[in-house]
Amino acid sequence: MKLNRGDRVDCRIKDAAIVSSYKEYDEVRTFEIVSVDKHGYYLFVPSYVYIKKSVTADVYQCKHLGIDNRFIDEQIVYIQENQVYRVSAVLDGMSCIVCQEFFFMAEPNQENGSLVCYSCRKNPYR
Ligand SMILES: [Zn+2]
Repeated sequence: MKLNRGDRVDCRIKDAAIVSSYKEYDEVRTFEIVSVDKHGYYLFVPSYVYIKKSVTADVYQCKHLGIDNRFIDEQIVYIQENQVYRVSAVLDGMSCIVCQEFFFMAEPNQENGSLVCYSCRKNPYR
């Protein structure tokens, strides 16, 4: 199953690192997907959680990865497909990356897994 940004996944955590879904673990945590690529997902790491290998999302990275601006200066971490222990919640639709409007049942139409709505595609400066 291919997941999209806004969906939530549960990951197994061992010694503050996200491990493969079949490995031993200390706890399970739920994360929101903020970007998708061919092999895995970028997850939002809330400030009260410490996860190894997480990085601060800067403006360039958010733009490059199509991450929503509200995650600038927040912690994100990249995981592979096999580090998804289970799907926690699937969002029925997506928000446009440009105007932030939410569209039910919408699917990504950009290479980086984001959605640009019809209005924004027609008029990028609206
Ligand atoms: Zn839009």
